[in-house]
Amino acid sequence: MKRNDLSRPERPAAEQPVPRLLGRLVLRGEGGPGTGCSAAVRRPAAVLALALWLAGCDSGPKPIRFGRDECAECKMTLVDPHYGAEHITARGRVYFFDDLNCLTAYQRRAAGPPGGAARAVVVDFKHPRRLLPVDQAWYLQHDGLRSPMGSGLAAFAGEADLEAVRRELGGGGRVLRWPEVRALPP
Ligand SMILES: [Zn+2]
Repeated sequence: MKRNDLSRPERPAAEQPVPRLLGRLVLRGEGGPGTGCSAAVRRPAAVLALALWLAGCDSGPKPIRFGRDECAECKMTLVDPHYGAEHITARGRVYFFDDLNCLTAYQRRAAGPPGGAARAVVVDFKHPRRLLPVDQAWYLQHDGLRSPMGSGLAAFAGEADLEAVRRELGGGGRVLRWPEVRALPP
């Protein structure tokens, strides 16, 4: 009897409904605490951390369904698995793009500060099922790269992969990092 009495709030219930409701809404939006995200990210292996980041816990990059997903900028269906990108908003909404120039055009117009809390990933040209954070990828712009919307840009996990493709294309082109890609004229 005494325990029950102690656990009951002394204050009238009417004082509390608003904060309680807000708390529930926030928890629902974040996917709730204790989903395993925070514990997993603390693990030391960088590769694992990247994999988990890409898995996105509750909200993050999604596998692109080529032949089904549509570019948020030009409305074309994504069909070439060597090209593609995603913009993930701070709230976890994912937008797909068939080419990097569509992603950068979208981001130029998107609300909020450049970059902001949003993040973006790009298809690894050499390993099409992999997605790379845009600011970690290496980019080759080359006339021989037939990207869907004509940017001629392909993304790679490292310089070795990039140079291998560049050799296959007979050399030439130019190597860029993300700030330069983002600054390319539309
Ligand atoms: Zn597009």
